Amino acid sequence: MAAGGGLRFLLVALRFLLVALHMAAASAALPLVVNTWAFGKATETAWRVLQMGGSELDAVEKGCAQCEMDQCDGSVGYGGSPDESGETTLDAMIMDGNTMEVGAVADLRRVKNAIGVARKVIEHTKHTLLVGESASLFAVRMGFPYEDLTTPKSLSMFSEWLNQSCQPNYWKNVVPDSSKSCGPYKKTEKVICKEDWISSQRRISVHNHDTIGMIVIGESGTIASGTSTNGAIHKIPGRVGDSPIAGAGAYADSTAGGAAATGDGDIMMRFLPSYQAVEYMRMGTDPTVACQKVISRIRKYAPKFFGAVICANTTGSYGAACNKTPGFTQFHFMVYNPSLSQPSEQVVDCI
Ligand code: ASP
Repeated sequence: MAAGGGLRFLLVALRFLLVALHMAAASAALPLVVNTWAFGKATETAWRVLQMGGSELDAVEKGCAQCEMDQCDGSVGYGGSPDESGETTLDAMIMDGNTMEVGAVADLRRVKNAIGVARKVIEHTKHTLLVGESASLFAVRMGFPYEDLTTPKSLSMFSEWLNQSCQPNYWKNVVPDSSKSCGPYKKTEKVICKEDWISSQRRISVHNHDTIGMIVIGESGTIASGTSTNGAIHKIPGRVGDSPIAGAGAYADSTAGGAAATGDGDIMMRFLPSYQAVEYMRMGTDPTVACQKVISRIRKYAPKFFGAVICANTTGSYGAACNKTPGFTQFHFMVYNPSLSQPSEQVVDCI
């Protein structure tokens, strides 16, 4: 009996050791692809690009483009998140952590491959961010076709919203009362400047928001990151979120780490969470803790904000964190590294 108990103990200990070894391997191996949400096809595409000798930037571009084509969760690419006029517009960025170059597009119209256009901003301009109709003109010059980003699904989301008296929306201090009726709105004489964090939580949640944010680290430690999204549903035309802003939506520095964010960009972009997470990792903070620290910092001001961050350091260690709210208690993200035979969906409990 005692011998049997001892054996069982040994087996359990051995199992723990194997799991620990596996986790250590899974958490610190290069190359590495990490991306937000359970967008596994994007992970696989990025991994394949690396295996075929592509660069880290190629992997980020093609991985995020996969989501643009697949309309991941309806919140990346065409046919999702119609704005107040019913149009889908796209935000994307890509960053090279060796040269610190960034290419980004925001409020891009009638062009599907937003991250492809962002890459062209790096390759063919000395700028960082192009926006709106002019970004679309640039895209056409770079050889991208004009296409309609509206689909029957985005049209029906738009008409449903109109039928619900344009609720929810992003206006405040306007007449007629934006919490009851559609516009056009005019400004009120009296302006209440207090930020309404609570109602912002109602507007933006896991149900109407997502971005693909991706970090790729090559065998030599070169880091690239990027994002692509169609932003916030029913946004005011012209609204740009965190995703195309370096340091907010994503950041990469091959001497420290990479990070990417998803969630309520109107709030998150005020805190540059991706930049901040990379700086924490530069100081030696573990990626999971770095992610947690930026989430906690935002939460001090916006306790109910919807958001999550992924982080990875130069050794291939990675982690994620999210802000716990009633509708959002766990965050799913994807990982691929040499210890895995396929993209692995991982889950963190929100803090
Ligand atoms: N952060 C994006 C935005 O606010 C959307 C999201 O990730 O949910 O545009």
